[in-house]
Amino acid sequence: MRLTRYFMPVLRENPAEAQIVSHRLMLRAGMIKQNAAGIYSWLPLGFKVLRKLENIVHEEQIRAGHVPMLMPTMQSADLWRESGRYDAYGPEMLRIRDRQDRDMLFGPTNEEMITDIFRSHVSSYKDLPLTLYHIQWKFRDEMRPRFGVMRGREFFMKDGYNFDLTKEDALHAYNRHLVSYLRTYERMGLQAIPMRADSGPIGGDDTHEFLVLADTGESEVFYDSAVTDLTFGDRDIDYDSVAQCQGVMEEFTNLYARTDETHDQALFDAIPAERQRKARGIEVGQIFYFGTKYSDAMGAKVQGPDGKPTAVHMGSHGIGVSRLVGAIIEASHDDKGIIWPEGVTPFHCGIVNLKQGDMEADAACDALYASLRALGLDPLYDDRKERAGGKFATMDLIGLPWRITVGPRGLKNGVVELTSRKSGESVEMPPEQAVEKIASIYATHHVTGNL
Ligand code: ATP
Ligand code: MG
Repeated sequence: MRLTRYFMPVLRENPAEAQIVSHRLMLRAGMIKQNAAGIYSWLPLGFKVLRKLENIVHEEQIRAGHVPMLMPTMQSADLWRESGRYDAYGPEMLRIRDRQDRDMLFGPTNEEMITDIFRSHVSSYKDLPLTLYHIQWKFRDEMRPRFGVMRGREFFMKDGYNFDLTKEDALHAYNRHLVSYLRTYERMGLQAIPMRADSGPIGGDDTHEFLVLADTGESEVFYDSAVTDLTFGDRDIDYDSVAQCQGVMEEFTNLYARTDETHDQALFDAIPAERQRKARGIEVGQIFYFGTKYSDAMGAKVQGPDGKPTAVHMGSHGIGVSRLVGAIIEASHDDKGIIWPEGVTPFHCGIVNLKQGDMEADAACDALYASLRALGLDPLYDDRKERAGGKFATMDLIGLPWRITVGPRGLKNGVVELTSRKSGESVEMPPEQAVEKIASIYATHHVTGNL
């Protein structure tokens, strides 16, 4: 993309309404625009990142054997009356009446709808196990929408639902989700720690929240510092293997890590003192096992191996896709702006032309741009007639991991400059070598579709 043809309304001033750094940087980098309290438009740069996260979530869900689909945002109140949650949910649910005077709602979550779909079409244990998921906009009329996309009223969420014959099978589904979530967050360049949590209005016994440590997080967390040494890496997991998934679950949840809702001071005190940590975290996902709560209430039964009808065991599993955009920025920025992890960056690299209008510099930039694109890479070429300082400031603000700087002086010696956003280090090299270097960096990163 050439910057002169793009739409990236960068702000010079710090917006007064932003209290935390991710919100400030997303507004300044022209990623989002607030349309009403807690409701945002995703401008082109923000939309690119959102789509990358969505793609990673899809790929990892499909890898785990879960089946994608799409349910509507609007739901009928009748289903929620069946489960008893129409009244129980409270003022966070946006209730709407249609022209026929029917009670509708903008879905805050989809347990009822998916249970209805399941009971309409599945009647035998032979069709299990089954996990269906979608990634869709949700609405919760939050009392205090704030921090930009971190606590919006309209937000983008992956929610998946497992249907199993037995509690044992459903616990395997739970573990499988835990493993797939670890992989998902790591691909986004994040460490998200599973912590034992409270089940809240969804209801249930087993639940873990995934938290990204950050001072601006809304949750208070207590943990053994040894959990921060755990990484999933590129292990090859067989998602059908009960033992493998359980092994990973135990490895990542045996050490003490809890939110304040389930915090147990006595257990915490038993951790060696130098490893006790009290901090804040951002909840970026949650997994639940809740047994037959919804299948009992809504009659979701299958015929078991003994021929008798039996209520299915269920769980639901969510990832806050839009919140993650903010969480990644909270975890990865400096005074100058965002520092995107390579797995989610909106563009793979920037090209800065130090002397726009200079025939040689323009030609070298055009050639770089074309060869990067020919390799399937997605560069952002700053082709504006601007001072170099302004171009660098914009590139630093929007946080592309790599920048290629092209100027007449370097070109005389046959070189351009390749700069890492993270370390700030610059190396001079011939343009072809810079292209090769960028291509090799992204070859080891799984590159998901460019928009
Ligand atoms: P919170 O405690 O932050 O209100 P929750 O526990 O009510 O969240 P879940 O029902 O577990 O949320 O939803 C799954 C994920 O969706 C959460 O882990 C979070 O990342 C995201 N999410 C929930 N509410 C919001 C919101 N208002 N804005 C953005 N993301 C949200
Ligand atoms: Mg939650």
